[in-house]
Amino acid sequence: MAPLHILGIRVDDVTMSEACDRVTRYIAEGGAHQVATVNPEFIMRARRDVEFAAVLERTDLNVPDGVGVLWAARRLGRPLRERVAGVDLLQQLCAIASQYKWRVFFLGAREGVAERAAANLAFKYQGLVVAGAYAGSSLPKDDRDTLAVIRRARPSLLFVAYGAPAQDKWLARNLLLLQSPDEAGAAKPVPPGLVGIGVGGAFDFITGLQKRAPMQLQRLGLEWLYRLLRQPSRWRRQFALVRFALSVMLQSK
Ligand code: UDP
Repeated sequence: MAPLHILGIRVDDVTMSEACDRVTRYIAEGGAHQVATVNPEFIMRARRDVEFAAVLERTDLNVPDGVGVLWAARRLGRPLRERVAGVDLLQQLCAIASQYKWRVFFLGAREGVAERAAANLAFKYQGLVVAGAYAGSSLPKDDRDTLAVIRRARPSLLFVAYGAPAQDKWLARNLLLLQSPDEAGAAKPVPPGLVGIGVGGAFDFITGLQKRAPMQLQRLGLEWLYRLLRQPSRWRRQFALVRFALSVMLQSK
């Protein structure tokens, strides 16, 4: 069956456990693979940002993050089975990483947050191999420095928390480069299998900098409302949800 596109953006119908299996396979297979956690804000942004839309078309896996995406899929007659939230995927993958001894790198968020998130996760998932943690910056001019840091760490799994679209563009620009030796040929390339995932505000949730909605609200599909109330500055971004809903209704008429 043709992949599902919501307002032109591909969303893959995977459950959490299938998404984890795919990542495990990518790492075993070798090569560089990119995963995105697509929510309505991504889709609306991609509609006016052709570069972002192209990145999301080339990713290996676009997991359905956000109840809005599930609602839209139902409305378009192609229901998705499960929501796969970025922060949940990150934690599930850390659990698997601790068993397989994958080296995991945490890139992004505010200064010091990636380190704290990595430490929290290493405590929760005993045996997790933290290859490194670095705030860096999402600006192309800083890519060289960031690549040097990551190369030295040699991760198999790379979580990038710059928010969309910066994190997904960062991965599209740099993931393959991480697999080739640097210009000096000095640093070894990372191991053959490398998976990069844009995880938005996940490090902020892990460190408690931002609180996640109570489980009951998450179950009711109201996590977005909780985030809006806690971070009113997001209202402009959340307005994208309204435009998203209207556009989907028009598409599905
Ligand atoms: N962030 C960053 N650099 C920036 C902008 C954002 O590191 O220039 C980080 C920010 O600290 C946060 C993450 O990106 O940890 C994602 O933020 P946001 O809440 O916007 O992401 P969402 O979960 O909504 O995609």
